[in-house]
Amino acid sequence: MSARNILVINCGSSSIKFALVNESQETFIVSGLAERLGSPEAVLHWQQGEYKDSQALPNADHRQALAQLLPIAQQAAAGELHGIGHRVVHGGEHFSGASRLDATSLQAIRHVAPLAPLHNPANLLGIEAAMKLFPDLVQVAVFDTAFHQSLPEHAYRYAVPQALYAEHGVRRYGFHGTSHHYVSRKAAQMSNLAYDASSWLVAHLGNGSSTCAVENGHSRDTSMGLTPLEGLVMGTRSGDVDPNLHSHLARTLGWSLEQIDTLLNKDSGLLGLSGLSNDMRTLEQAREQGHAGATLAIEVFCYRLSKSLAAMSCALRRLDGLIFTGGIGENSALIRSKTLEHLSLLNLKLDVQANARCIRGVAGAIQADGHTCVLVVPTNEERQIALDTLALLD
Ligand code: ADP
Repeated sequence: MSARNILVINCGSSSIKFALVNESQETFIVSGLAERLGSPEAVLHWQQGEYKDSQALPNADHRQALAQLLPIAQQAAAGELHGIGHRVVHGGEHFSGASRLDATSLQAIRHVAPLAPLHNPANLLGIEAAMKLFPDLVQVAVFDTAFHQSLPEHAYRYAVPQALYAEHGVRRYGFHGTSHHYVSRKAAQMSNLAYDASSWLVAHLGNGSSTCAVENGHSRDTSMGLTPLEGLVMGTRSGDVDPNLHSHLARTLGWSLEQIDTLLNKDSGLLGLSGLSNDMRTLEQAREQGHAGATLAIEVFCYRLSKSLAAMSCALRRLDGLIFTGGIGENSALIRSKTLEHLSLLNLKLDVQANARCIRGVAGAIQADGHTCVLVVPTNEERQIALDTLALLD
């Protein structure tokens, strides 16, 4: 049988990212983005090799955008499309792996939507439109939370009354599972270790960021929790704060829940600390020019990241290496180096030249001689979603 093609779809509330993945190729055959859906400026962009194109889709909804992008994918696949893999943010406790989409799994995804009110309904929009448009294609949901369903109970329970867990699902779920899974497997390959006998700390650092401890191919702890707000400093998210901050702001400033939600999710993190930007590149440039807010934001980001990695090490019995991934992890030698300055007790130290070399998609080992392995591994969530989809087809 020739190598199969999977269309990977990631639906947001007003956007659809897509990629056509061939199982034998690391690069995508075609990939693109439909954005500003539902507005007069809606537009579809795509890229196939060096060729780039775009098409205005005024006022198009998810279904109309999918109807436009499918022929592009089918043509690129020369008619050989074997299935569709959908990214779904929250699978709750129901999904510990990918799931074929049918009436039962759709109902379960709807059921956990209160845990991810911004994300799951948008993911469902795309799934429902795609199922109507392509009823004959196998469609599969791949969940950001599923990889973390292997967390032991002492890692996933909050110290709150147990009825909140039993009756309302209040527990830590974790996110970015697709990426943590992909890069930890890749790291084992790069190190000539069996994935099921290897042990990793992972730092996925993008606009959203999280750490993870992966032992023998299973997530054992992770920094995000009930929602993707817990844990590290992120682009616009605060990460951990004192839970009493909510009542403090309500009491002293009279803020509503909505205002506090917006503050912690949209106005905080690197943006809030720097007063300048949520974008690490911009902050690194501003720091070079002596911008105090940018300098502080970078210091806090790295210190909090190192604290989280040290905490994650409690979940492991051995450490084969630390992995950096995501836009920041794959590109910022500065962030990698500043983070490791706080982690010398874990025998982590970088080789300056190797660290500088691993940017823009270059993978490799960057530790100094005689120190614990540190790897830069570009993530590829679309590929992992396609692999999970194919595994279900098999
Ligand atoms: P998302 O979580 O949206 O997928 P990405 O993984 O693309 O985000 O990461 C985006 C972040 O990566 C941004 O903060 C961006 O500034 C940062 N980034 C990208 N390239 C560089 C670079 N060369 N140096 C520092 N940061 C970078």
